[in-house]
Amino acid sequence: MQTTNYHMHSRYCDGNGNIEDFVQAAANFGFTSIGTSGHAPVPFANNYAIKPEQLSEYVAEVEQLKEMYREETELYMGLEVDVISGLQQHFTETILPYHFDYFIGSVHFIGVHPQTNLPWEFDAGADNFEWGWKELYGQNIKKMAEEFYTAERLVPNFIPGIFIAGHMDRIKRFNIGQKYFNETDSWYRDLVFDTLSAFAQTDIIVELNTAGWRNPIGDAYPSDWICKRCFELGIPMHINTDAHKTDQLRADYSRGAHRLLKAGYTEVLALRNGVWTPDLLKE
Ligand SMILES: [Zn+2]
Ligand SMILES: [Zn+2]
Repeated sequence: MQTTNYHMHSRYCDGNGNIEDFVQAAANFGFTSIGTSGHAPVPFANNYAIKPEQLSEYVAEVEQLKEMYREETELYMGLEVDVISGLQQHFTETILPYHFDYFIGSVHFIGVHPQTNLPWEFDAGADNFEWGWKELYGQNIKKMAEEFYTAERLVPNFIPGIFIAGHMDRIKRFNIGQKYFNETDSWYRDLVFDTLSAFAQTDIIVELNTAGWRNPIGDAYPSDWICKRCFELGIPMHINTDAHKTDQLRADYSRGAHRLLKAGYTEVLALRNGVWTPDLLKE
């Protein structure tokens, strides 16, 4: 039975509904520990992140809701932080002054867009991915994947407070029917295994992100074989749904639990009284 979820987006960023709607829904579902993870403000024009001038409002609202719902559920204040080399100072100055409980570190950007000179959001649609693969990488998917996993390896130590690696094989998002690469290719497996070996030296939690089952690829992040490797390396995991509306708070949870049980996990990490603590994993 699902009792936690640390990956959700409200109207403050690219989600729908108020944070309170998520807290209420989660409490009604019987969740005992949850976290809100709005996209952290970034220093360039975009339509997905919390606006810099709204961050203090986000913080105040979550702090207030923590108190209001104290009897119903433990609410934690988080952000999903874009792991983009060069932005460490930006995040250090803008988000670390607040007292967040946790951050999710995610890679949505690789390379640089030649027209804007800004990081390229590989993740923004299948046509955009196809465009970048051709125009920025000369159809060299290996180079793209190398850049992706180089950034992914930065996740645990990118800034203090990153406890969760978000959708860690997101580069597969548009790889429908193995259009760009085969996950069994040794070069791809080596990239993933090297990343996991680096993760295993840290305390990072790898989330099983069920949004992949709603994305074009139709497979959760990370893939089955990656979860198995995480288990072998002793990397802790847990299940998040990356909800952008309240009815996604439980999306595919038991499917995710099934995948982790199959990989060997019997426990997942949950925040209990502010400490990451093992919870029994149940479908
Ligand atoms: Zn994300
Ligand atoms: Zn997210």
